[in-house]
Amino acid sequence: MIKIEDLDFELFIPEDKLLIRVKELAKAINLDYNGKNPILLAVLNGSFMFMSDICKEINLTADVSFIKLASYSGTKSTGNITPLLGLSESLKDRDVVIIEDIVDTGKSMVYLLDLINKENPKSVEIVSLLVKPEALTESVTIKYRGFDIPDLFVVGYGLDYCGKGRNLRHLYQKREK
Ligand code: 5GP
Repeated sequence: MIKIEDLDFELFIPEDKLLIRVKELAKAINLDYNGKNPILLAVLNGSFMFMSDICKEINLTADVSFIKLASYSGTKSTGNITPLLGLSESLKDRDVVIIEDIVDTGKSMVYLLDLINKENPKSVEIVSLLVKPEALTESVTIKYRGFDIPDLFVVGYGLDYCGKGRNLRHLYQKREK
């Protein structure tokens, strides 16, 4: 068990299991995008570790890019999405692969898809390491999903609680009191 600020967290998915799944997701992407030059677009900050690991397993000639959005306050999704760092290149006629750490309500993803679709890409697909099906309120199609998890707050492997815990190599879940 670990403590971050005022909350206790327990081990949820260890690094070895995360990495096995990351490899499986990369394998599917390598097959589906064979012969193409997709742009892998990671959503910061939470996806930085996942992005780094999945990129190393992708054997395509891919562009790597980042966008920064914020929507969380403490352990709650606020629904108010703020772009903190925008798209830096044109997505016109590109095969865009969004690399996301977690889809919770889906609001950030709807916002991001809208932003991307304005650029007239050739295709857009979503890769999300984690999905909380019970929390999902928006209709989003996540083609590549790592783990479906219960509606619990998680930290580690890039995800934070109040800015802390991103550097943890395993994924932890908030302990219910
Ligand atoms: P959504 O807009 O889908 O509700 O929220 C998406 C964003 O909220 C994610 O990209 C992530 O930054 C944050 N988020 C959602 N659930 C969790 C969670 O369990 N733990 C942490 N640390 N962040 C989360």
